[in-house]
Amino acid sequence: RLQQLLTFKDKEAITQDGHKVALYANVGNLSEITRTTELGAQGVGLFRTEFMLMNATEYPNEQNQFLLYCDALHVLDGCPLTIRTLDIGADKDLPFEHHAHEENPALGIRGCRYTLAHPELLKPQLKAALRAANHGSIRLMFPMINQIEELDSILQEIEICKQELVSEEVGFGDFEIGLMIETPAAVMNINSLLPHLDFVSIGTNDLTQYTMAADRGNPQLTKAFPSLSPAILNLIKMTITAAKVFDVKVSLCGELASDKRAVAVLVGMGLEELSINLSSLLEIKSTICDGNYNNWQTLANSALKTSRVSELHELVCN
Ligand code: PEP
Ligand code: MG
Repeated sequence: RLQQLLTFKDKEAITQDGHKVALYANVGNLSEITRTTELGAQGVGLFRTEFMLMNATEYPNEQNQFLLYCDALHVLDGCPLTIRTLDIGADKDLPFEHHAHEENPALGIRGCRYTLAHPELLKPQLKAALRAANHGSIRLMFPMINQIEELDSILQEIEICKQELVSEEVGFGDFEIGLMIETPAAVMNINSLLPHLDFVSIGTNDLTQYTMAADRGNPQLTKAFPSLSPAILNLIKMTITAAKVFDVKVSLCGELASDKRAVAVLVGMGLEELSINLSSLLEIKSTICDGNYNNWQTLANSALKTSRVSELHELVCN
């Protein structure tokens, strides 16, 4: 089976009736970025930068982050690197950061809420990414943004970083700006966020957790409230529809994109970019190459009309 999947490595993800899907990879370190190109992904759709710091004794400075991003871009050889700024807090604490105790960490100071309060973490990362953009294709992505006020603060921080680089006489390149869509509020506010963005990427892991009010790490709950459910599909559809109106690229990087059962519905709903775990990449590509987009659009329309999780699962498994 693996041998058979490996034949898809250098093929495009394109359905039997000629509909193309861009497949990117989810990674957490440089060696995974190397495997990305070996598996024939079109780039990195989600670099979880906090992952590589889980065992670090200190926060890498701007120069070291810059060198790492340059190494990554070199490996990617022209393909985009989507750098997500540190998504710490909730279940992800860094050893060198003292994170105050919170009663409900998933609902606490996490993601951009944390980094906006800690410019000593955010600014070196932004400046390193802006500098690296001189050496390849950088997409900067921000986690846990709910509303325009937070995006304003992010854009302001980016402006400050640019000005500092100019006064330091250090060059920087063009880059794209995007958000994770991972809370119901981000979906409801999507029309006010999109005009400022080049892309969005739907994070179904947190979007499911926050929509269902169900801890994503609790298997008892995730079984009853899965990402592959009518509520989440409708939120995804709303995001895709709005993004198309504003001509903003839309991707999906949550676990749902790595779920073989979901790919027909996701592509059928109009997603043209998916970012996938390395272990599922070839499997998803082979599923797309076997599929028919026309049929998948019909399937997606039916899926959006289901009311029960079981009904939806039966539909997509047939
Ligand atoms: C998500 O929330 O779906 C996501 C991709 O981000 P993470 O799993 O790192 O929270
Ligand atoms: Mg998330």
